Amino acid sequence: MQNRKSAQLFKKAQKVIPGGVNSPVRAFKSVGAAPIFIQKAKGPWLYDEDANRYIDYCGSWGPMILGHAHKDVLAAVKKTMANGTSYGIPTRLETQLAEMIVAAFPSIDKVRLVSSGTEAVMTAIRLARGATARDKVVKFVGCYHGHVDSLLVSAGSGLMTLGTPSSRGIPKDFVKNTLPAPYNNADAVEKLFAKYPGQIAAVIVEPVAGNMGVVPPKPGFLKKLRTLCTKNRALLIFDEVISGFRLTYGGAQTIYKTKADLTTLGKIIGGGFPIGAVGGKASIMNKLAPEGAVYQAGTLSGNPVCVAAGIETLRQLKTQNPYKKLAVLTEYLCDGMTEQLDRKGIGHKINRIGSMFTLFFNDTEVTDYTTAAKSDTKQYAKYFRHMLNSGVYLPPSQFEANFISTTHKKTHIDQTLQAIENLKL
Ligand SMILES: *Cc1c(COP(=O)(O)O)cnc(C)c1O
Repeated sequence: MQNRKSAQLFKKAQKVIPGGVNSPVRAFKSVGAAPIFIQKAKGPWLYDEDANRYIDYCGSWGPMILGHAHKDVLAAVKKTMANGTSYGIPTRLETQLAEMIVAAFPSIDKVRLVSSGTEAVMTAIRLARGATARDKVVKFVGCYHGHVDSLLVSAGSGLMTLGTPSSRGIPKDFVKNTLPAPYNNADAVEKLFAKYPGQIAAVIVEPVAGNMGVVPPKPGFLKKLRTLCTKNRALLIFDEVISGFRLTYGGAQTIYKTKADLTTLGKIIGGGFPIGAVGGKASIMNKLAPEGAVYQAGTLSGNPVCVAAGIETLRQLKTQNPYKKLAVLTEYLCDGMTEQLDRKGIGHKINRIGSMFTLFFNDTEVTDYTTAAKSDTKQYAKYFRHMLNSGVYLPPSQFEANFISTTHKKTHIDQTLQAIENLKL
């Protein structure tokens, strides 16, 4: 693999951008490699500056479910931006996207659009606190909810001590109301409710965890959270920034038949453009300004170009209904991986749901952060580098989700399995 140009560009970038990247994992630090610089992408393929081609299993961390440079999404964007790119005044497009989200989520009556998943979560937390007049929030260890100050506690590979922020620059006071619990452990949440009666505003959870690698909820986990929140008059927030429109046309909450009070969305609903959304019952959503007293605003919120890309993406997903096909193809890939790795005697576990999966170099079942953390990250790093050299781009960390798009075909999967066949760890 030729990487001269990427190496040069990375050197230049490091002079003017901290670490040379605009989001930390892109630096490839945990896989001991230098980042590749992308020139263009089409369908399942990424092309870097050195003209290497890769089958992409990261999909820009989730949004690109239709593959890269989808022609109808591009057409919608071009058409919209020809009329201007931002007005800061309402457009009909915003209502159209909101209507599509409301129709797809039985728990959502109203939705507010923002510009990132982080912003959506930040708004949901403020809204939950405003609506309940309580301060404490339960979050799960290993779940990531964007880089919101109060939620950078036990976020992914962060520190696991109670109340310790996983980043410098966050005052202790900002996290003193954050209560971490182990994922898939509703009993721990029950104990927190008992310990802090009348003080917990919300429980926030990724209904399918994607940020410690893919970890699906155990049977009954989400339903128990629902019961506990209802009983204690706390709000249940589903962070569906990854899972929204990824597993079905709607949310993981549709699949697990559990209604959230508030839902956060992002990634897919922007079709590759910056977006986020928070939605829920009208009675709660109406507490947002200008209807209510919980303030929230954004210069580029509901940006017409982002919204147009989102509408077209959802329209495609609704008409194609690709979810079954995506799941079947993902299963084919994961079964093939298991077969190859078993033959090589490489210990591993694959967690898979719909078109998302993680291959853990781990001998134990991965059901929460503690078990995920047992993975052999050195083996993952070797695997990542081997696959990259073989023309397959994976998320550059063991603790991330892999995604398949509607443009991935059996031939791409077979090529991927061929690369694994040549793997030596
Ligand atoms: C990506 C992600 C976020 C943050 O979204 P950004 O657009 O990166 O700010 C929040 N929650 C979850 C579950 C995510 O995966």
